[in-house]
Amino acid sequence: MSLKLTYIGLGSNLAYPIEQVRQALDELATLPLSRLVAASSLYASRPVGPQDQPDFINAVAALETRLSPLALLDQLQALEQQHRRRRQHHWGPRTLDLDLLLYANDHIDTPRLRVPHPHMTTRAFVLAPLAEIAPSIQLYQTPLTCWLERIEQQDPGQSLERLAKA
Ligand code: AMP
Repeated sequence: MSLKLTYIGLGSNLAYPIEQVRQALDELATLPLSRLVAASSLYASRPVGPQDQPDFINAVAALETRLSPLALLDQLQALEQQHRRRRQHHWGPRTLDLDLLLYANDHIDTPRLRVPHPHMTTRAFVLAPLAEIAPSIQLYQTPLTCWLERIEQQDPGQSLERLAKA
C-alpha cells in the first residue's frame, strides 16, 4: 500500500474533553504504518442547546498512512472504543469522535465509510482547524477558503492556543 495523506477530525464534549482530544492526538501518532504529520490547535465552542454541559473541543490531524481506508477506520473506531471503556472504569461515560475527513483524493461511498466526510463542508469546527494545517487544500475542486466563506457566519469556536497566547 502506498503512502497516503489523510485528515482526521477529532471531537469531544464530555468531561475532560481537552485531555481526551490531546490524548487521542498522541494515540493517532502511534497507529501502525502511519505517521502524524500535523495537528491543528484545539477549538472550544459552547454547546448548542442546554448550556449545563462542557464545551465541545475539536481539532484536525494530518496523518500519512499505508493503511487502507477501512483499516484506518478500524483503527479509529478501536480508539473511540478504548476511550469509552477507559472512561467507564474511572469517571463514567466519555465520548471521543474520530471522523475520517479525507483520504488522499479518494471518493468513497459505502455503507460503512463515506469520504470526503459528508458533513465536513458545512461545519466551521472542522473547516477552521483544517485550514490551519492545510490552507491550500481543495474540496470537490473548490478551495477550502471558499467553503469557509460560505459558512462565515458560523462560529468555529475559540482556538485555545490562540487564547493562551493573547
Ligand atoms: P458517528 O458516531 O456519528 O461519527 O458515526 C459513526 C458511523 O459513521 C460509523 O458507523 C461509521 O462506519 C460511519 N462512517 C461513515 N463515513 C465515515 C467517516 N468518513 N468517518 C467516520 N465514520 C464514518
